Amino acid sequence: LKSLLADPTLLEDRAYINGAFVAGEGTFEVTNPARGDVIANVADVSRMQARDAIAAAQGAQKEWAKWTGKERAGVLRKWFDLMMAHQEDLAVILTAEMGKPLAEARGEIAYGASFIEFFAEEAKRVYGETIPGHQRDKRITVIKQPIGVAASITPWNFPNAMITRKAGPALAAGCAFVARPASETPLSATALAVLAERAGIPAGVFNVIPASDASGIGKEFCENPIVRKLTFTGSTNVGRILLRQAADQVMKCSMELGGNAPFIVFDDADLDAAVEGAIMCKFRNNGQTCVCANRIYVQSGIYDAFAAKLKEKVEAMKVGDGLEDGTHFGPLISEAAVKKVEDHIADAMDKGAEVILGGAPSELGGTFFEPTIVTGATPDMAFAQDETFGPLAPLFKFETEDEVIEMANDTIFGLASYFYAKDLSRVYKVAEALEYGIVGINTGIISTELAPFGGVKQSGLGREGSHHGIEDYLEMKYLCMSV
Ligand code: ADP
Repeated sequence: LKSLLADPTLLEDRAYINGAFVAGEGTFEVTNPARGDVIANVADVSRMQARDAIAAAQGAQKEWAKWTGKERAGVLRKWFDLMMAHQEDLAVILTAEMGKPLAEARGEIAYGASFIEFFAEEAKRVYGETIPGHQRDKRITVIKQPIGVAASITPWNFPNAMITRKAGPALAAGCAFVARPASETPLSATALAVLAERAGIPAGVFNVIPASDASGIGKEFCENPIVRKLTFTGSTNVGRILLRQAADQVMKCSMELGGNAPFIVFDDADLDAAVEGAIMCKFRNNGQTCVCANRIYVQSGIYDAFAAKLKEKVEAMKVGDGLEDGTHFGPLISEAAVKKVEDHIADAMDKGAEVILGGAPSELGGTFFEPTIVTGATPDMAFAQDETFGPLAPLFKFETEDEVIEMANDTIFGLASYFYAKDLSRVYKVAEALEYGIVGINTGIISTELAPFGGVKQSGLGREGSHHGIEDYLEMKYLCMSV
């Protein structure tokens, strides 16, 4: 892997604690899911070392918070510039440890970096408020201050961007940060640390602690009184565990949890645009994102045409090693991920669905899987309630607007939703009726640092991105002054 990089020093297998790259108590293996080979043995940080990182963050945070917003903005901007200058290398590292096609990895680096750029700018705009007093001699002022030390736990599906969209606002606000990346993908995180150091982010302000013992680190984050904020992206199940653990300290939590995105195509939709949108929305990252369409509802009048067109387009796309040109679908992250897709297909077929494309592991072997389309999907099938997190597109047929809204909302999740329609009053009514934090209207791609990303119901708490994103790392203080 080193030989593929213009700057091989970006490939860092040690943890980054208090401004130093350090060994763990042992190592764990990181493999390339496309080939199964070990690409690095990465520092395995123990709970004791995590405690050191948290203590270092506490020391550094006090100074960091004294910097002006403009000063913090300056080094964050440098960090952004360095990420973009090394976009290609960061993308290669990302694809090697995670599997997504290189073009998507480049896109993720730009997306990830955009959070550092955006929140660098926001560092200057942490405005307070003055409120007319309640008595003649009283003056009310509201100031915003950093929460303190923030700790993150992030997943493997966006190894760069899931960290930057937390670290960006945290550092901009004046918090210090301890990141525990997913054990599948720590190298994208340690590469960020290399660049953070070069950018001049002070020692202890940004720490990366790869660790195989997720639950031990999670407990340390929740039980250590220095940590005042926990930010997590991952499954709803783990989110529930962390929320319970965090309750003892009444810790502030941001949770970006699972989704089960409906993608609805009404009869009046632009069919070609809807097919294109569905492909991007369903198959990006091989279906392994929490905003991927999980259930595709197509109105009866265009159901057959939609299915045929979708099949034709997806059939022409290529499964392969993400580092090879022309690959649309990389491998899935693990055997367990393959099993889940297989289970969902088998369950659907048992209950009367028909596979019109794919349906099986790819002949490439490993964890490669054929992109799959299933027709005749019904609400009793597993994917109606459970996120597949893989390249399986189930097509449900519906008749009326009311019927599809009821089906779309019939889930504990509420992250992203999508629909294609032209009728203006329908657009408003459906957008308002969908119980989701995000609604894509005539588009299958909704992620941008400029907008608040987050879910309702059991998809999470808080928002990431936009000027709202920094609020999750700020405390409000009310000053009551008698004059
Ligand atoms: P995913 O399906 O994306 O792997 P998970 O919720 O299982 O979703 O994992 C998200 C992150 O949470 C990963 O970094 C994982 O290692 C970590 N994790 C898993 N279990 C726990 C736990 N009990 N406490 C803290 N972190 C955990």
